[in-house]
Amino acid sequence: MFYFFYDFALYLGVFVANLVFIAVYVVVLLLNHRGRYSVARNVLLGNACSQVFVVSYFISAGAGVHLFYFTLASILVFLFQSLHVLKYIAIMAMFGTLYIIVHFLFSQSFVAEPVPSPWVDIMYAGSVSGALTLLGVFLYLFRKQIDQAEDELTLNNQYLETLSNTDPLTGLANRRVLDDTLAQEWARLVRQPGAMSVIMCDVDHFKLFNDRYGHDSGDHCLQQIATALKGVLSRPSDLLARYGGEEFALVLPGTDEAGGRYLGEKLREAVERLNIPHAKSNTAACVTVSVGVSGLDHVSPDVSQHGVDRLLKCADQALYQAKANGRNQVVFLPYPSAYTRAGQ
Ligand code: GH3
Ligand code: MG
Ligand code: MG
Repeated sequence: MFYFFYDFALYLGVFVANLVFIAVYVVVLLLNHRGRYSVARNVLLGNACSQVFVVSYFISAGAGVHLFYFTLASILVFLFQSLHVLKYIAIMAMFGTLYIIVHFLFSQSFVAEPVPSPWVDIMYAGSVSGALTLLGVFLYLFRKQIDQAEDELTLNNQYLETLSNTDPLTGLANRRVLDDTLAQEWARLVRQPGAMSVIMCDVDHFKLFNDRYGHDSGDHCLQQIATALKGVLSRPSDLLARYGGEEFALVLPGTDEAGGRYLGEKLREAVERLNIPHAKSNTAACVTVSVGVSGLDHVSPDVSQHGVDRLLKCADQALYQAKANGRNQVVFLPYPSAYTRAGQ
C-alpha cells in the first residue's frame, strides 16, 4: 500500500514483485488444498526466502525486511515433521548467509528504490515488531504442541499401566499387582510389626458350571462374583485380585485372625447371595465359593522375605481343606508361629 500511494512510479518494481510473490502464495494454498504438502512446503520456503531478498534489494536493508529470515527459521519445525539435523543446519546456514548478504550489501546507496526517512525507520520498526511477534506466536504454538504431546504420552502411559495391572475379564487387579502388594505389605510388616491376613477364594465345581451353561455364562458368572467380592471390602488398603482361572486372592493389611475369618465368611455369603443357579453342583443349588484364610497378628522384625510365600501357601492349604470338607465354607489356618520369630 505504501508503494502504491507514496510514489507508485518509483516503486513499480517492488510492487510488481510483491504481486508475483502473492500469486505464488496462492499457488501454495492450492497445492496444500490438493494434499501436495511436500511441494507446497518447499515452494512456500523458496518463495518467502526470495521475497525477503528481492524486496530488500529494491528498498534497502534499512527497512529491516530481512529480519523475517529469523521468523522463517522458526517455522521449520512446523514445516518439517522430522528433518535430518544436517538438512536443518544447511537451511539455517542459508538463512544466515542471505541475512548477511542483505544486511551488508543492500545499503541505501546501493539499491534502486530506497525508502526515504522517516518511512524507512517506520518500516524498520514495523519489521522488528512483525518478525518478533510472529516468532513469539510460532514458539508459543510449538510449546503448545509439545505440551499436548506430553499430555497424550502421560495418558497413554497411564492407560498402559492400568492395562498391565488389570485382569481384562473382571477388571480386578491381576496376579502381578497381587505379588507386588504382598511383597510391599510384608516388607512393611517387617519394619512395623502388626497384623495381616490373606484369603484365597475358589469357585466350587466351576468346570461343571461351564459344561452345563457354556463358557460365556461362566465368564459372566466370574464377573458377578468379582463384583460381589469387591462389595464386601471397605478399607482402601484391602486388595482383591484375580489369582487365575476361577480363583481370587485378597490381601488384608492390618487385619488379624478374627478379622480374616469374619471377612472370609462375608465373602462366602456374598457369593451365595448372588443365587446364580448351578444345576450340576452337588454342594448347593447355586454357585458357591470355598474360602481359605490365613493370617498372623504379629511378625517380629527381620523375619524372612520368604514369609510372604508361606502365608499364601497357608491360605491355599486352608482352601484345600475347605474343598475337602465339602466346599462352600471358610477354613482358617494360622501362619505357623515358629516362623513369626526373628531370623526365620
Ligand atoms: P473345585 O470345586 O474343586 O474347584 O472344582 P472346579 O471345577 O471349580 O475346579 P477345576 O480346577 O477342575 O476347574 C476350574 C474351571 O474353571 C476349569 C476352567 O475351564 C474354568 N475357568 C478358568 N478360567 C475361566 C474363565 O476365565 N472363564 C470361564 N468361563 N471359565 C474359566
Ligand atoms: Mg474351582
Ligand atoms: Mg481352581
